[in-house]
Amino acid sequence: MRDPAGDPLLPDAPARPDGTATPVVPPVPPPGPVPRTAFIARPDVQAWAALVAGLLVTLALGAVQLSRSYDRITAEQESRLQTQARVVSENMLRQLRGVDSALRGIRSDLTASSHAEADVSPHRLKELGRAMPGVRGIVVLDANGTVTVSEMSALTGQNFTRRDYFTAPRDRPDYTSLYVSTPFTSTRNVYSINLGLAVPDARGQFAGVVSANLDPDYFEIVARSVLYAPDMRVSLVHGDGKVFIDALHAQSSLGRDMHAHGSHFNEHVASERDETTTQDVDTGTREARMVVFRTVFPKDLYMDTPLVVSVSRSLDAVYAPWRDDLLSDAIFFVLLCASSAATLYFVQQRRHSSARAARERRVLADKAALQLHNAAELQLRTGRLAKVGGWQLELSTMAMTWTDEMFEIHDLDRQTQLSKACSLAHYVPDARRQVEEAMNEAMRRGTPWSLEARIATPKGRNLWVRTQGEAIFEGGQVVRLVGALQDITERVQFAADLQAANEKLERLTLTDGLTGVGNRRLFDQKLESEWARCARRGLPLGLLMVDIDHFKLYNDRYGHQAGDETLRRVAGILARCVQRSGELVARYGGEEFAVLLPGSDMESATTVAEGFLALIAQAGIVHAASTTAATLTMSIGVASVQPLPNALPEQLVHSADSALYIAKHLGRNRAEQAPEFSG
Ligand code: GH3
Ligand code: MG
Ligand code: MG
Repeated sequence: MRDPAGDPLLPDAPARPDGTATPVVPPVPPPGPVPRTAFIARPDVQAWAALVAGLLVTLALGAVQLSRSYDRITAEQESRLQTQARVVSENMLRQLRGVDSALRGIRSDLTASSHAEADVSPHRLKELGRAMPGVRGIVVLDANGTVTVSEMSALTGQNFTRRDYFTAPRDRPDYTSLYVSTPFTSTRNVYSINLGLAVPDARGQFAGVVSANLDPDYFEIVARSVLYAPDMRVSLVHGDGKVFIDALHAQSSLGRDMHAHGSHFNEHVASERDETTTQDVDTGTREARMVVFRTVFPKDLYMDTPLVVSVSRSLDAVYAPWRDDLLSDAIFFVLLCASSAATLYFVQQRRHSSARAARERRVLADKAALQLHNAAELQLRTGRLAKVGGWQLELSTMAMTWTDEMFEIHDLDRQTQLSKACSLAHYVPDARRQVEEAMNEAMRRGTPWSLEARIATPKGRNLWVRTQGEAIFEGGQVVRLVGALQDITERVQFAADLQAANEKLERLTLTDGLTGVGNRRLFDQKLESEWARCARRGLPLGLLMVDIDHFKLYNDRYGHQAGDETLRRVAGILARCVQRSGELVARYGGEEFAVLLPGSDMESATTVAEGFLALIAQAGIVHAASTTAATLTMSIGVASVQPLPNALPEQLVHSADSALYIAKHLGRNRAEQAPEFSG
């Protein structure tokens, strides 16, 4: 993955529109307290109020509708009953007129001749009766109430003086009036009424009655013809209240007297109206009924008593469909109430539960945001504590993002635009090549990298950093690089200090505290290592064993401290002469020094030893107690050998010691060579 612009791996981080870098962890505002969405009942109450209002309106509309329907049914039924009453009434009227006309004809025949020779034969009466379907028979009675003419021969001669249809005209003779008898049961056991005319004699005195007996069967048929409902009742009622035709109810109602005080029938009759429509209670069945009374009382007939047609229906039956409607409407309304209430209840429950779920989701989201915030904060704080910055390079957009700590480590303002100059390698010039190679490797093989390098910040701080990173793959493709940069300056500094301290300690353990030259331990180490080195290289290894002469006497004479000072001077003189690489002056013990001379054979080692003797003499350190000289002297044993890898260096020491012993015995203040030996 290379930036076509040139700089490998380290493309510019695109700047945000405001020119600032995108922090890896965007600052998350701490979430506020979870808003308490308390259960608000107000919308619920409003919804219920609206529902109740709607239902009340529906109820009112239904009531209006039902009331109208009630009124319509009432009007319809009244109108129908009135029509039927009229039909019956018209029919009756026709019959009455016919009867009246026939009776008047007979009477005029009777009065035209003498009563005895009346030209009114049974045959004629029979013909007339047949011509009028509402008439069963016509009879003529004389002034005593005896039948003089009848179509039925059996009746002739019978006396009906007690019959109402005879007594009424006899007692109150009015020759214009048509007498309507009260209903009675005839000799042929027929419950009926008679219509009659008073017949005068030549002097105008009451001479008899011509009377027609109405046929109840006919009127029954007429009455039945208008029935249109099983509960309907059609009656023909005499003006005094006695029922003489009651369609379908003949047996139970005939003779029933409707003339009770204050009854609707009485009111109707008293009002002299043609028609009254009312509601009445049946005196027998106690049933409430809608009744139309229609008077059949044509003025032109001069009837003494009116006849009344009564047409009625049971209110129960009339309003049955309406009651059914009412019931079904009521059921519908109850169901509507129940279903709408249930629907509203469930809708509200659902809304509450979804509101609850939303609240819970919000709480969870707030918790998650809080956790995210805490995690981001934790990351920032720990990053700051550990001085670890994070960075990310999105390869698709080349967007480089840094955490705050990255800016801190680099001494850059957080608003700094991350340009090409800010690329990662730019800040680690010491290890730029290694970083680039590591990034390439990470993108090729997926191996993470970890490098330490020095950086210098714009504020002049020199830091040690550890840069670590890896490539993130998605679907086999590298999509981004992420990494961490840690300021490890303190640790590196500490390591360096520790190393220096250790080195110092090491030096101290190998140095003689009094004289400052190497100690016996250093000598042993050097002897071993130089032995091996000279053996490898085929070089000779020379050794001088130097011992100060009569030093005990010196101490005795000048004191121990002066002795120490002299030891330091002697060590200094020796050390100044031995400065070639690998050469060493060490205090072997007491007032005795060992001088290691790699590469020196016996001759050159002897030369060095004689140089020492000359320098000591030159130093002129007064030693009045010495029996050898007036100044301090020393004896030196010289040894040199060609070391062999498998031989031990102790031989060399031993050899030099021997030479020293010889020098002491030969009078001191001299250097003596050890006998030759093979290493
Ligand atoms: P010789 O000529 O035979 O070497 O005689 P010598 O007196 O030098 O030898 P000897 O071994 O008898 O005595 C060594 C003396 O060196 C004894 C001791 O007082 C002295 N000496 C050893 N170490 C120190 C030291 O660290 N400081 C002082 N002041 N004297 C020391
Ligand atoms: Mg000694
Ligand atoms: Mg000595």
